[in-house]
Amino acid sequence: MLRSDTLASSPLATVDRLAELLRWYAEMGVDAVMDEQAHDRFSEADVAPPAFYVAEPVALVPAPPEPLRLPARPAAQPPDQANQTAQALAAACDTLDALRAALDGFDGCTLKRSATQLVFEDGNRTARIMLVGEAPGAEEDRTGKPFTGRAGQLLDLMLAACGLDRTSVYIANIVPWRPPGNIAPTPVQTAACLPFVQRQIALARPDHLVCLGAASTAALLGLTDGIIRTRGRWFDYDCDGRIIPAMAMLHPEYLLKQPLQKRLAWRDWRAVMQAAGPQGVRG
Ligand code: URA
Repeated sequence: MLRSDTLASSPLATVDRLAELLRWYAEMGVDAVMDEQAHDRFSEADVAPPAFYVAEPVALVPAPPEPLRLPARPAAQPPDQANQTAQALAAACDTLDALRAALDGFDGCTLKRSATQLVFEDGNRTARIMLVGEAPGAEEDRTGKPFTGRAGQLLDLMLAACGLDRTSVYIANIVPWRPPGNIAPTPVQTAACLPFVQRQIALARPDHLVCLGAASTAALLGLTDGIIRTRGRWFDYDCDGRIIPAMAMLHPEYLLKQPLQKRLAWRDWRAVMQAAGPQGVRG
């Protein structure tokens, strides 16, 4: 319980109070800041009510509102145009470094505006197995690397159980910017980023592709039957004219919520290891 008299007398208690408030926000699901300026919504309650609240007949007609002024932001491209721009930019890149730079300069996905930074890749670019997840979360947004939060820790454990680690796999996401509040990227946001991740796969040239979760499976393999139905099966992925085997797998985030399903993930990882062999990195 917070007491205002204690708060007033101790700066430390104020820090504690702020920490408690932030914890409360996080528990309520507020884990992203959408504005650089803080707003004191409580003090706004003290502002005198607008004139039309006064119970006089003439005051019932409010004055026309001031035109709304929003901070200047780059205009979002229409969805088709964003996808076309992405395709052209990605196709022009012959290296992963060039692709990363092109993606960093790309303004066609609205997620870029609220994210801290681009989350492009982790692991070994010459690995034979490439994993593609859905989108960065809060921790990935902070570190700039995919799968560095709780789901990433579970992924690391699963890789270790297969004798793999981040030096023997290559990791990316369908969208490289964090969706605020960890909601799923929209189809428009996914479409804007898809040419980049497709090019990333083509340039990394893995021998096996693992789609982690339903969003990755839908975007890369076009399969929308539900991950429980598609997981554990091999599909063909056209990697710039080279057909490689791709497997849909349960997302580690899902496994954190449904730990009993880890046995299915373990089965799928065994199948990947059987197909890929023990050598993670190309010679
Ligand atoms: N979930 C993902 O799909 N990707 C990440 O990088 C982290 C969590």
